[in-house]
Amino acid sequence: MEETKVVTGAWELSTFKFNVEGRGLQLMLKHMKDRKLMGIKCHQCGTVYLPGPFYCRKCHIKIDEPAEVSDHGQVMTFTIGYADVRGNPLDEPRIAPIVKLDGCDSWIMGVMQGCAPEDVHVGMRVKVQWAEETTGSLQDMQYFVPE
Ligand SMILES: [Zn+2]
Repeated sequence: MEETKVVTGAWELSTFKFNVEGRGLQLMLKHMKDRKLMGIKCHQCGTVYLPGPFYCRKCHIKIDEPAEVSDHGQVMTFTIGYADVRGNPLDEPRIAPIVKLDGCDSWIMGVMQGCAPEDVHVGMRVKVQWAEETTGSLQDMQYFVPE
């Protein structure tokens, strides 16, 4: 049986930098306008990434095979935030799940709505709530909602 551990506390965070590989992100954004998620699959091991990197993290070879990923998936882990990055209390708790979309091996982080914090759980089925009008930007994927 799986167990969920609840850890309450404060993290001292500083600013950080990260890089997004442009090509895989551009591919993803291009299809998001049509409410589709397009990742990249490794032709050697079959691993699917979203957004797609230019090389497979397992095989260390260049990859470029587009692979459609579902906009449904399951919560792998989550955090519930009660304060913003400056420590100011939020009006409503913010649920930030990390989701493994069906047909994808990498996980993505988002925000969840339509669910009380006490009802979120690992393994919970969720789906992407798309913007009413999509433009090919990251904002097209508004948040996750329970499936
Ligand atoms: Zn591979």
